[in-house]
Amino acid sequence: MERNYLLLTPGPLSTSESVRHAMLQDWCTWDKDYNEGIVTPLRHDLLAIAGLDEADYTTVLLQGSGTYCVEATIGATVRPEDKLLILANGAYGKRMAQIADYYKLNYVLVSLGETELVTGEVARKALEANPGVTHLSMVHSETTTGLLNPIEEVAEVIRGRGITFIVDAMSSFAGVPIDIKGLGIDFLVSSANKCIQGVPGFGFIIAKKDKMLATKGNARSLSLDIYAQWETMEKGHGKWRFTSPTHVVRAFYQAMQELKEEGGIEARHRRYVENHRTLVDGMRALGFQTLLSDDKQGCIITSFLYPSADFDFADFYNKLKGKGFVIYPGKISDADTFRIGNIGDIYPSDIKALLEAIREVR
Ligand SMILES: *Cc1c(COP(=O)(O)O)cnc(C)c1O
Repeated sequence: MERNYLLLTPGPLSTSESVRHAMLQDWCTWDKDYNEGIVTPLRHDLLAIAGLDEADYTTVLLQGSGTYCVEATIGATVRPEDKLLILANGAYGKRMAQIADYYKLNYVLVSLGETELVTGEVARKALEANPGVTHLSMVHSETTTGLLNPIEEVAEVIRGRGITFIVDAMSSFAGVPIDIKGLGIDFLVSSANKCIQGVPGFGFIIAKKDKMLATKGNARSLSLDIYAQWETMEKGHGKWRFTSPTHVVRAFYQAMQELKEEGGIEARHRRYVENHRTLVDGMRALGFQTLLSDDKQGCIITSFLYPSADFDFADFYNKLKGKGFVIYPGKISDADTFRIGNIGDIYPSDIKALLEAIREVR
């Protein structure tokens, strides 16, 4: 099947033909060929690509989009007597606070400007101002703008304080190397349709095993109970509670093989960096400016400022779509921007073709 267009968006993203092809068979949600042959190896692979030891870390897959997993994680880890500190600098960070509102959690939201980084200094000050914090959550790659928060600095600040560290690495896991163990990340959340290059339908949580065990009985939602889901997967050798997105999981299995064939996370990261470099250099040569300075920018997605006050994004979008490229509108309040993603089954040659299309339509 030929592609309708290339998705230069942060998920769903362009997948390989072989990943899409893997969805052409039906699988029984409780049969062992599926649970033991696909789900269980995937759970092992998720830890393996992250360089984690199965004795100390575990993983659980959960139906829904990435937000379901962020909500499930916050909802099952932060108890009524706990205190959650959320360090946000974009829409996905703020979404964590929305979740905390729904669950009526005791939380503090530190909301920075959308072009400011969540640094160690920000974390240190917030902890000083808010004694009694038990959990800290933040976003790694803030897809709202494309900035990459220095989680290493925050990790350093909370080291040894017994604070549970929750990281939304939705758009960075598998596209940017993350030393989960070294940084002391207790819960890392990501989803099928981001840097592992699968299709949308479920997310996953990589967790410190003792922290996962400690969530037993905490969840206030049946379908989002990560402990119950984890326990069923453990005891049932890859069994999901409730219908699992079988085709999506099978496609993810194929995507995982392709990640390994590419050379793992480091190799994928190098490709994304090259895509990003090619894009930014090319766009600047065409007269566009990036929203962020290069030192804050990650390689996942880039925000560009409108080139002029009368720039018609809808027209630009439609013309590019007509040439086979789908880009993304901006998502921030204080500047007119649009975004272009570098992740997915996208190569520097695709970016060069996009740049040529932009040169023609603008
Ligand atoms: C994609 C994404 C999510 C999840 O969004 P969904 O629409 O639920 O898939 C969460 N956080 C970040 C940083 C993301 O990029």
